[in-house]
Amino acid sequence: MHKQTICKRCIIDNIVYPDITFDKNGICDICNIFDNWNKTNQKLSDTQKHNALQNQINEIKKVSKKNEYDCILGLSGGVDSSYLALLAKDWGLNPLLVHIDNCWNSEFAVSNIEKVIDYTGFDLYTYVVHWKEIRDLDLAFLYASVVDTDLPNEMPFVAMLYKLAKKFKVKHILTGYNNNSEGWMPPNVTHYKLDTLNIRAIHKKFGKVKLKTYPTIGPFMVFYFEQILGIHYINPLDLINFNKNTAKLILQEKIKWNDYGDKHCENIFTRFYQSYILPTKFNIDKRKFHLSSLICSGQISRDKALSIIKNPVYSNSFLFNEDFEFFLKKLKLSEKDFMHIMNTPIKKHTDYPSYINYYNFFKPIYKPIKNMFRKIRII
Ligand SMILES: [Zn+2]
Repeated sequence: MHKQTICKRCIIDNIVYPDITFDKNGICDICNIFDNWNKTNQKLSDTQKHNALQNQINEIKKVSKKNEYDCILGLSGGVDSSYLALLAKDWGLNPLLVHIDNCWNSEFAVSNIEKVIDYTGFDLYTYVVHWKEIRDLDLAFLYASVVDTDLPNEMPFVAMLYKLAKKFKVKHILTGYNNNSEGWMPPNVTHYKLDTLNIRAIHKKFGKVKLKTYPTIGPFMVFYFEQILGIHYINPLDLINFNKNTAKLILQEKIKWNDYGDKHCENIFTRFYQSYILPTKFNIDKRKFHLSSLICSGQISRDKALSIIKNPVYSNSFLFNEDFEFFLKKLKLSEKDFMHIMNTPIKKHTDYPSYINYYNFFKPIYKPIKNMFRKIRII
């Protein structure tokens, strides 16, 4: 293993991100990506951001005048989306809350969703993914030995939000995504989220169950939804100087919201994947990325982040034992088979058919095409 070299500003190192580069001051390329985003965003003063948000809210209300709902809001029960739902109420919006249940919800997620509904009075639409199909996909991805094992669990979320927006005739999908706490993840940690080709190929090779209802959406369909139907994702938290700790305190005070720990750990598959499979098999501690984006946005000090990272990823061994047992039992996986998966050499997503090379090729020209379609729609 290489000698550890760590960024002087955040806590990302060459272990968790082998292709990391540093500038002459020892600052990593991910910090630079964050700064570039921030420069564009910081061009706007607080008043300008407030006005931009107000314009966005007015636009949502204007285009949905005759509809029952004015937008769709994806709700996981996590801090970002729960907080966004409370804000939507303050803004006078009437979203349809959509929860995609991939059968791995923790009890925290379920209870938080109920609390958000009680407080806001918004309607909730829950889509439950067919368990036998998602189980088969989860197992296929585990056997495929690729880093983004969580990809099949995320795909229905993206797909159903677009499909439900079309069904309920709304043009805007609100999500709790925000650059301040999500940050940018390199390709050794995550994979292209619309790679239906990769999902189908891995399932074909390792799956056993026929996929009849599993919702998917690939890049071409997203183009159709965005550019032809004019349905768009928007991330309002980027316009409000979002601070995760403040949001948690407000949620706890207003709705007695439950804190479930680390990012995205409201879901048991994600929790076990991020806290055990990723660090053990792939040598990736995702907390380094989440904490680094909080450092770059001034929400936590580097020293505090370094002290957090010294603790084991699983906060206690009782929770680990509970999750380990639950994970195996739910997937009907023996301990021997799981250990075999953990010891199988790592494969790249591109060892299987994938859209990623097409995506990288079209990425630079996608924006001008998008703008062209936008102009056509305006005309
Ligand atoms: Zn850095």
